[in-house]
Amino acid sequence: MVTPEQIKQSLIQETERLGIDKIGFASADPFLELKERLIQHRKSGFESGFEEPDLDKRTDPRLSLPNARTIIAIALAYPTRMDDPPANRPGAYRGFFCRASWGEDYHHVLRRKLEGLERHLRELVPDVTTEIMVDTGALSDRAVAERAGIGFIGKNTSLITTQFGSWVYLGEMLVDIALPPDQPVTEGCGDCTVCIDACPTGALVGPGQLNSQACLAYQTQTKGFLADEYRDLLGGYLYGYETCQAVCPFNRGKNFTHQEAFRPDPEKVKPLLKPLLTISNRQFQQRFGTMAGSWRGKKPIQRNAIIALGRFRDKSAVPDLIKLLQDDPRPVIRGTAAWALGRIGGSEAEKALMEAEQREQDSEVQKEIKRALKNRITHEKQENEQG
Ligand code: SF4
Repeated sequence: MVTPEQIKQSLIQETERLGIDKIGFASADPFLELKERLIQHRKSGFESGFEEPDLDKRTDPRLSLPNARTIIAIALAYPTRMDDPPANRPGAYRGFFCRASWGEDYHHVLRRKLEGLERHLRELVPDVTTEIMVDTGALSDRAVAERAGIGFIGKNTSLITTQFGSWVYLGEMLVDIALPPDQPVTEGCGDCTVCIDACPTGALVGPGQLNSQACLAYQTQTKGFLADEYRDLLGGYLYGYETCQAVCPFNRGKNFTHQEAFRPDPEKVKPLLKPLLTISNRQFQQRFGTMAGSWRGKKPIQRNAIIALGRFRDKSAVPDLIKLLQDDPRPVIRGTAAWALGRIGGSEAEKALMEAEQREQDSEVQKEIKRALKNRITHEKQENEQG
């Protein structure tokens, strides 16, 4: 008969064959401390709305798998640099998908790896019961990974590993057998506050405390109008935002490219902005559908592309933006196009905005048009004064 320690060691060996970068074992006891923090988080209004709403489910593994005894946590490292990134040029500006969206959707990749682990476990324990989770499961992947000794949760709320930094995807498998747990790591952020200081919206309201509503990564995924104060802060990001990770000293120089599935296609992760304005649903699915960053569909990506073109003041985008302002059935797209036209300025943009002001029925879009016309005058005034 195999002992729990032998099962654990056999699973650890199997990770090498499966291409899993880190594995850890944790008890499936409820996450009581986390529950307290989540209650406060909710009271403060800091939730994104994308989370599992049931806090008991989020913190008690046994509500996902009755009789759960152990959680097996895994991590896969993803790359942070492209070999030959296409350049940004006037008239051919590009946007950017965050690194957690490079290559194939990690949900699928991690699930395959966990299924491989599950098959191996079943050879050792044929009647084991399991439940696999990757990101969209009820539990907090980060809390599980921390308890399993994969890394520690930094002040930026990312799970940080010493080997790969926080550039890791996390997933876990609940099992109804007891396996020896690993010890949580003792390392931490210490006195560092670099991520808190670097966050452009103040979304990191304290160490390890994120106001998701103010987080730009979350804001890139919303489908409504992007609040005015965030538009100048996106910096070309079409999906996600990662300044709090990019500045972290634990991530300095980290670029692991060994996971083939996450290798970025430069034309997909740094796409030209203008073609995104006219892309059809089918084309969008064909081109971006296998990426994690496509999960909210094309609308938020298009909205963010329009904002980026406005920020770049790309005059060559004016005809396409005017067409959106005139014809697009989605108020968010018409209104954001109005904002971008106001930013870019020029007589053609101005004429289109004035015509739209006469025609537009949607009150939100009307507001955007009026503001675009007013701001355009302010910009021109500023430029004249500076010139
Ligand atoms: Fe911790 Fe500093 Fe990294 Fe923030 S930047 S997560 S404070 S080590």
